[in-house]
Amino acid sequence: MAEIDLGQPVMPAGKKRIAVMTSGGDAPGMNAVVRAVVRQTIASGCVSYAVYEGYQGLVDGGDMIREMAWEDVRGWTSEGGTLIGTARCMAFMQREGRVTAANNMIEKGIDALVICGGDGSLTGADKFRSEWPSLMDELVSSGKRTEEAIKPFRHLNIVGLVGSIDNDLSSTDATIGCYSSLQRICQAIDFIDATAFSHQRAFVIEVMGRHCGWLALMAGVSCGADFIFIPENPPSKNWEEEMCSIVRKHRQMGKRRTIVVCAEGAHDRQLNKVTSSMVKDLLSNTVGLDTRITTLGHVQRGGPPCSYDRMLATLQGVEAVKAVLDAKPDTPSPVICIVENKIVRKPMLDAIAKTKEVAAAIERKDYDAAMRGRDAEFEEFLHAFNITTATDKKDMLLPPEKRMRVGIIHVGAPAGGMNAATRAAVAYCLTKGHTPVALYNGFPGLCRHHDDKPLGSVRELNWLDAENWASRGGSEIGTNRGLPSEDFKTTAYCFDKYKVDALFVVGGFEAFTAVAELRKARAQYEEFKIPMVVLPATVSNNVPGTEYSIGSDTCLNALIDYCDAIKQSASASRRRAFVVETQGGASGYIATIAGLSIGAVAVYTPEEGIHLNMLVEDIKFLKEQFARDQGAARSGKIILRNEKASKTYTTEVVANIIKEESRGKFDCRFAVPGHVQQGGTPSPMDRGRAVRFGVKSLQYLEQYAGKTKQEINDDPMSAAVIGIRGARVKFTPMERVESEETDWKDRRPKNEYWMALVDVVDTLSGRPKAYRRL
Ligand code: ATP
Repeated sequence: MAEIDLGQPVMPAGKKRIAVMTSGGDAPGMNAVVRAVVRQTIASGCVSYAVYEGYQGLVDGGDMIREMAWEDVRGWTSEGGTLIGTARCMAFMQREGRVTAANNMIEKGIDALVICGGDGSLTGADKFRSEWPSLMDELVSSGKRTEEAIKPFRHLNIVGLVGSIDNDLSSTDATIGCYSSLQRICQAIDFIDATAFSHQRAFVIEVMGRHCGWLALMAGVSCGADFIFIPENPPSKNWEEEMCSIVRKHRQMGKRRTIVVCAEGAHDRQLNKVTSSMVKDLLSNTVGLDTRITTLGHVQRGGPPCSYDRMLATLQGVEAVKAVLDAKPDTPSPVICIVENKIVRKPMLDAIAKTKEVAAAIERKDYDAAMRGRDAEFEEFLHAFNITTATDKKDMLLPPEKRMRVGIIHVGAPAGGMNAATRAAVAYCLTKGHTPVALYNGFPGLCRHHDDKPLGSVRELNWLDAENWASRGGSEIGTNRGLPSEDFKTTAYCFDKYKVDALFVVGGFEAFTAVAELRKARAQYEEFKIPMVVLPATVSNNVPGTEYSIGSDTCLNALIDYCDAIKQSASASRRRAFVVETQGGASGYIATIAGLSIGAVAVYTPEEGIHLNMLVEDIKFLKEQFARDQGAARSGKIILRNEKASKTYTTEVVANIIKEESRGKFDCRFAVPGHVQQGGTPSPMDRGRAVRFGVKSLQYLEQYAGKTKQEINDDPMSAAVIGIRGARVKFTPMERVESEETDWKDRRPKNEYWMALVDVVDTLSGRPKAYRRL
């Protein structure tokens, strides 16, 4: 996302007519796609259409292809499913159907189509485009259209967006809808977990995914399952024995419940189907567990989209319109993808071919090729899963001289995923032969108790200690804002006393500051000449060195749930605007991304501040909006104001000014969700990334085993921050991030990649740009 100018509308020479369509299985986020495409189309000076009921609407034509106005998509970001309908259309599979569809498009003057669907829908789209010239010829030869009439339509412009809950398209890390579906699954497993624990039961959970095991894998990682079955990487030949022995082992270690996640397309290495009932029978009869099956079914498709899907759908919808406007006649049809944190266009044909290749590789039992066909993230998640559930992989143990005592510490406010990261670090350590040492309650905890209660503040963890932390919010080992500089001497003493060979620090800006301090204090304290990694974890997402901190996704989900409820109340009661105060410290990230996710009227960030002129313009804008909305169902409007956007114009003051100035035309209230934003249960994205980055961080620290203090001190990479940077996950040396990338005064990165997204919020709400000028 970092490098794309997503906000500015592009003015084409001619007035293009761009249609948007949803096709295949519905996926949460499809409505946000339609809203973004419709509004970006209109904002770009083009005419917007929606094709109802997928390809069936294109074949049927007439009223199934409708011009869309700005107001038609108001409030759509929060809605699940697809409001313009979707269908599986047999007629479009035949050329005759496609000829009719082409004719219907010409009828409406449509020359570009944005399609959001799965690989089947995109295959259909690609076929349509490749056949297009011959379809035009056929329309002329059959006398349906004249040569003159089809002249402006010689080139069909098609852009694909991947909407699918399975996350089955190669080339993109996430499809629109997959994280919402994962959220539903994890919610269900979390609920089941409680009853499984109570009765010491085993549960086999069947999830969707015929050819793609992403949902099963991610549910396994996020919920700490005991075993998973995915089509791309079937279990070993003796899987029955392997699964039973792992489950038995976990039980012997004291686990009270067992969760096995099974993708619907699961099979063994010979392609014999592995069913939930086969797994249940084994767990019941061989391991002797009281076992139940839960098949989640269509609940996985339902419900409102999570924040990530809304954001992804919105940004990709905007990008799709830009791709349409950029296209030349010879530009291959693109599909809009996301790689880590970067939205990119890739050739649709390649993405489909790669996806089909995974299914073909599975068919010919070439599982290495199937895994290669998935993105790099998929393989890393699988590795992370294996390493966090393995308990007796003797072959993975390192020789004694390579083993370390790894200190694990939480610093700053709690954030979703901190415990999942710690659990992963503990499991990794034990698998490799390291000793995980929890330093309780941050640096002050370490220093305060070192003499009188040594075992309370510093404790070696075993596998069972952390085993059920995967889904827990808060911080199980306690967190504290205190910094090592408050008592370097005792901190150094404790590092020595507890023989800390490496340090894994999880937390926000304070965690980052703590490692910066320890690194600088290496000159005075030999004890700090150890490898250190910060895993950024904060709701504010303001840690330099990364574009994403764990915990921020959980926060966004809590915030959008809150805003959705407020919006509903605002529209139901009477014409009312709300000013909602968000957390985020001096970074407007949370306000901006939540703004994209709920379709806010405006976001007020500390980076931009609040100016009188801005308020004047926004009040004018709100008045126009309410006037335009006369009688419209969804008229609740939200302005998101970051807690530090202005000292003078507080949330309450802003709301009061707006109310006063509305002259009775509408009401304005304020709301402060406060600590609700830390979220209860961490989101699956935060949990999954926490596990993946936790494992990566430990692998990173491990490289320093056996090195001398001097070697460690001389290596700038020995104190690093792990983070997502554009399309990659990277470790960056603290020294560089501290000196070049950190705005120490405002406690945030100097360059915040998401700043351009404020423009997207404005463009899609229709907010005039004039407010920026004082
Ligand atoms: P999901 O991932 O939810 O299955 P999908 O897009 O893959 O979504 P499909 O049912 O495979 O869902 O495809 C949706 C529609 O796309 C089909 O009903 C058909 O109209 C069209 N389509 C699929 N494949 C082709 C093809 N090869 N040629 C023409 N049209 C196609």
